[in-house]
Amino acid sequence: MFEKILIANRGEIALRVLRACRELGIRTVAVHSVADTEAKYVKLADESVCIGPAASAQSYLNVPAIISAAEVTDAEAIHPGYGFLSENADFAERVEKSGFAFIGPRAETIRLMGDKVSAKDAMKAAGVPCVPGSDGALPEEPKEIVKIARAIGYPVIIKAAGGGGGRGMRVVHTEAALLNAVQTTRAEAQAAFGNPVVYMEKFLENPRHVEIQVLADEHGNAVYLGERDCSMQRRHQKVIEEAPAPGIDRKAIAKVGERCAEACRKIGYRGAGTFEFLFENGEFYFIEMNTRVQVEHPVTELITGIDIVQAQIRIAANEKLWFGQKDIAFRGHAIECRINAEDPFKFTPCPGKISNWHTPGGPGIRVDSHVYNGYTIPPHYDSMIGKLIAFGDTREQAIRRMRIALSEMVVEGIKTNVPLHQELMLDARFIEGGTSIHYLEHKLADRNEVKKT
Ligand code: ADP
Repeated sequence: MFEKILIANRGEIALRVLRACRELGIRTVAVHSVADTEAKYVKLADESVCIGPAASAQSYLNVPAIISAAEVTDAEAIHPGYGFLSENADFAERVEKSGFAFIGPRAETIRLMGDKVSAKDAMKAAGVPCVPGSDGALPEEPKEIVKIARAIGYPVIIKAAGGGGGRGMRVVHTEAALLNAVQTTRAEAQAAFGNPVVYMEKFLENPRHVEIQVLADEHGNAVYLGERDCSMQRRHQKVIEEAPAPGIDRKAIAKVGERCAEACRKIGYRGAGTFEFLFENGEFYFIEMNTRVQVEHPVTELITGIDIVQAQIRIAANEKLWFGQKDIAFRGHAIECRINAEDPFKFTPCPGKISNWHTPGGPGIRVDSHVYNGYTIPPHYDSMIGKLIAFGDTREQAIRRMRIALSEMVVEGIKTNVPLHQELMLDARFIEGGTSIHYLEHKLADRNEVKKT
């Protein structure tokens, strides 16, 4: 096992990784920007290194500074968290070439999955169900493009191979609009991602977002840890996540889960990963793979009892998976609310000083957050300040516990989206379960209409 790990991230995930290291008896190095000097995990880490000014480009994305910090502190491995450099294949390569272990998949796997066309090809070959669409990249020839769209059937969606973060996509409803849309998406993709390659998929009108968590080791073993439903989204950003996904047949989950595990074995996947699917009319359609730990990993940890971050570290240290698929038992239900420092109605970020912070507790409640009383949220980064997670024997119990936890939560000095979560925990459609990825947007639009009249 490693003796010392450098955590190349900030915020709640830096603290989460630090806690996993401490439990494994591993010393930690926190790297931080000038703006994060006062962060809790920086104080708790065994060592800390300031790697640059507040701007991420000069600190959390500053590869030479992070590698030097690992060198001067004699760290053996680097955990990239999520966001920042976590899915940057060049970074993973630099880390390994510099003699450190990268806590994540091999650089070539990250590269394969980072290009959506090659990722989809690999998944198709591995038997993972995909959205019907073009066979790889779209050709140049307009007649061919029209033919492909006719075969798929409208509406279709044009997506950039290099796209991410919900950008580089365009829905097309009619043949008249097709060629223009392809051309515009190509130009945008070239400008935004430096890669003009686009592909086409059937546009699913009312899907849910259901994802499969996997773990795979260096020795050819892979398992799936069930699914998460992350359909409650605003602008492609997840707001609430839960496990298991309400109302989906367990046999269907086992089938797609086994396909994902098998795909990991086929591509030689290493570490934790997530296969994201759209789910409509009882069918799963692969959209992309995330080659890192996800924000919403705690809901899976609560229903399986498996510590995903510790598993990432043990796998990076070359350990063989210490359990098989049949040893994984799913128990109860878990729900996560992402707590953001933002206006709960206008969604504008609200950084600043937290004058009073009191987190809830009690049976089944977990709070993952790096903030504390008197902490000042810097304006330079993501607005998520923590995650409130409720576990119960049943979904109903998890919702009840979440309602109580939200009512106990005190955050003063800044605005948060706690009122939105309170509203959603009482929402009839959410309580029923199984809403589509458009539900929250529609609900928010209705709320604004009511306010105007
Ligand atoms: P990104 O990497 O930018 O997040 P994804 O491929 O994961 O891109 O897609 C992001 C979102 O776009 C999905 O969660 C879904 O809401 C929508 N989307 C993508 N592909 C389709 C499709 N074929 N049909 C309907 N919606 C889609």
